[in-house]
Amino acid sequence: AAKDAGRNRLAVYSHPLGEAAEHRLQLEQELRHALDQREFVLHYQAQVDEQGRPQVMEALLRWQSPSRGLVLPGEFIPVLEETGMIIETTRWVFREACRQARRWAEQGHPLRIAVNLSPLDFRQADLAGSLLGILAEEQLPPGLLELEITESALLDAGQEVQRALARLKAAGLPLLLDDFGTGYASLTYLQQFPFDGIKIDRQFVAGLPESEHSVALVRGILTMARHLGLHVVAEGVSNERQAAFLRRNSCPSLQGYYYCRPQTAAAIERGWSQDAPRSLLPQDH
Ligand code: C2E
Ligand code: MG
Ligand code: MG
Ligand code: MG
Repeated sequence: AAKDAGRNRLAVYSHPLGEAAEHRLQLEQELRHALDQREFVLHYQAQVDEQGRPQVMEALLRWQSPSRGLVLPGEFIPVLEETGMIIETTRWVFREACRQARRWAEQGHPLRIAVNLSPLDFRQADLAGSLLGILAEEQLPPGLLELEITESALLDAGQEVQRALARLKAAGLPLLLDDFGTGYASLTYLQQFPFDGIKIDRQFVAGLPESEHSVALVRGILTMARHLGLHVVAEGVSNERQAAFLRRNSCPSLQGYYYCRPQTAAAIERGWSQDAPRSLLPQDH
């Protein structure tokens, strides 16, 4: 009955927050619960080299909600950001990535895991100290983790952000500029901050190879990155024509549905155990 009443104009007065705000509050409470009850899970999507071999696994957050099913980050990360819960979430993601990287290394698959940071993570007093503390606690061998930072994190970035990034890099965490080309000052950020690489945003990859504009932009970015000594990952590679163009233009790393969808660690490991017997067979069998 309350639901029906919500559609009635007069009933607005009995809903001081309004329906949208109520939904929002409900979502917020469920997310708080999710954080406490460990309903978050990480899926992993490979970044492959020109031969298609996985080099890095990007950790992508999902919410396994009992009532809503599997929820994608676009639907809940903004809420985590607005409520400040993102800081605790990032700590959880980072720790989980450390543990996963260690498990894979112990299984003979030393893959680096890339963790996404939110612009809001940079608002806390000591982001570097927080992450490096976790790294020390988890005793992860160096070289198994890297960080993806979007340009929006660097908008208005001051001295503290500079220092945080420098500390993280010095501790052996490569820094990648995510969604490259979509921000306001992509080139300025490359000059100001100690990035090791960039991820070309999938909107540029989407136009390959038909759009002359996309072709020129992607070639330009690859050339620039080569001159600057930056690693490059192309995001959102979703078909063979895009992949072929990028390989032809020596893009060192490719990521997208064409190669693999984000999947659970267990699914990735099943893939390895299925491949193992086959790769052990002699060539002529
Ligand atoms: P992102 O870091 O740029 O991640 C790439 C997104 O593109 C992922 O979406 C991925 O599933 C999707 N994708 C990969 N290949 C393809 C493709 O070939 N075609 C298309 N159309 N999409 C592709 P997802 O997992 O929904 O994540 C969206 C965004 O949410 C991420 O963008 C990242 O900014 C954010 N995010 C994800 N996990 C985390 C996290 O743990 N912490 C934070 N702070 N942000 C996260
Ligand atoms: Mg990313
Ligand atoms: Mg990206
Ligand atoms: Mg993106």
